[in-house]
Amino acid sequence: MDAYDVVVIGAGPAGLSASKTLAKAGKRVLIVDKDPVGGTCLNYGCMPTKFRLKFGSSPESLQRQRKMVDDLNKAIEKSLRKRGIDVLQGKARLRDRTVVEVEGKEVRTSSVVLAVGSRPRGLGGVEVDNRRVFFAEQLLWHLPRRGLKRMQIIGAGAIGIEFAFMFRELAEEVIVCDLADEILPREDREIAGRLRAMMRRQGIGFQLGRPCKVDDSADLVLIGIGREPNREGLEETLGGLELAQDERGFLAVDESYRSSVEGIYCAGECIGRMFFANTASYEGKACALSILGRGVESGYPAIPRCVFSDPPLASVGEVEEDLVYGSVNYPHGEMYYLYPVSGKIKIGIDRRERVRFVSMLGPGAPELLPLFTLAVDLGVEFSRLRDMLYVHPTLAEAIGRIRFA
Ligand SMILES: Cc1cc2nc3c(=O)[nH]c(=O)nc-3n(C[C@H](O)[C@H](O)[C@H](O)COP(=O)(O)OP(=O)(O)OC[C@H]3O[C@@H](n4cnc5c(N)ncnc54)[C@H](O)[C@@H]3O)c2cc1C
Repeated sequence: MDAYDVVVIGAGPAGLSASKTLAKAGKRVLIVDKDPVGGTCLNYGCMPTKFRLKFGSSPESLQRQRKMVDDLNKAIEKSLRKRGIDVLQGKARLRDRTVVEVEGKEVRTSSVVLAVGSRPRGLGGVEVDNRRVFFAEQLLWHLPRRGLKRMQIIGAGAIGIEFAFMFRELAEEVIVCDLADEILPREDREIAGRLRAMMRRQGIGFQLGRPCKVDDSADLVLIGIGREPNREGLEETLGGLELAQDERGFLAVDESYRSSVEGIYCAGECIGRMFFANTASYEGKACALSILGRGVESGYPAIPRCVFSDPPLASVGEVEEDLVYGSVNYPHGEMYYLYPVSGKIKIGIDRRERVRFVSMLGPGAPELLPLFTLAVDLGVEFSRLRDMLYVHPTLAEAIGRIRFA
């Protein structure tokens, strides 16, 4: 029987970063995934959605999307092997805490990292048939055969909003529904409202603030209402092993990513803390450092996020009531000739004038975000950003013009 220091189950962002960190430290690592490597992010999430948003929904574009994903699957696998990491494709199942079975083959290991992800949350009683009703993962590989009359998107989070843009040219009518009375619940209300108004002007409709039911007259329905633990998948993966779960059914871990069973660690969406690729990678690395006996920082650094709408929305930090908010519309004056577009930057500072929250809507917003991410992470005072020098003429100059009411 082959023996490893660590077997990582799941080759999404969490599993990949865990295995690379472990291999770099000289550990013998096997990574297993039932799908080609890259996880939800590469195969059914971040990458294909952004490709389709950028290059559209023609049959040729979908073929190129397939090729992009296949090429990246191969490139990632190659880079894992180059680092000395063994890669197996197949469903992994724990026999006990030191033996993992992959498609009939057993391997022995000192530690296991479970980085098995989560699944989309279902809408009570609604069958997802992948013909009319879809989750995002399947819909982004689907091209309707004929013109769509009405598309209904249930859920006005980032995925629902991105799919509204993706399908606005394929359907005569796209309607986004949500129980909440504004789109993008984590984002600043004013910025989210601004984006909704822009979407409305682009012909996207909304039904907000009331319970959503599947619309029988819609020829395509997307359910995009968040994530939940993959209960059946977990049960299969764990064999008979019982790992403590939190009240929502996600795997419970301590601050060092240790599960309730010795030698088994968990990271990424399966622990249900964050649902982004960047946080999954962060957790995977932190989990590996914990296995290596190196200190793990508690909590997360500032988490930048982006909705790839048109225009894009980019933000960092949390909306809080006791922050003081300032803003600027961009661009100003002569910059308008270079950037004939409009946008807004909104910033929240605390009593000590440290930057705590930033939300931006407009072309270029994602490129301005890293500066603000660092500012939030380091607790930089706003005056440092306002008074620093920016290249003229650039969009970033707008930061120096932010005014507080
Ligand atoms: C449509 C969509 C768009 C998204 N866009 C973005 C974005 O723009 N930016 C962003 O930051 N995030 C985005 N996300 C979220 C991002 O994809 C996830 O947060 C990220 O992939 C989570 O990483 P993970 O490693 O925890 O899990 P996953 O990436 O889900 O990886 C888990 C892996 O475990 C494997 N697995 C499970 N059980 C077993 C088993 N028993 N044996 C073998 N393999 C197993 C699965 O096949 C899977 O590959 C998007 C998600 C979706 C659905």
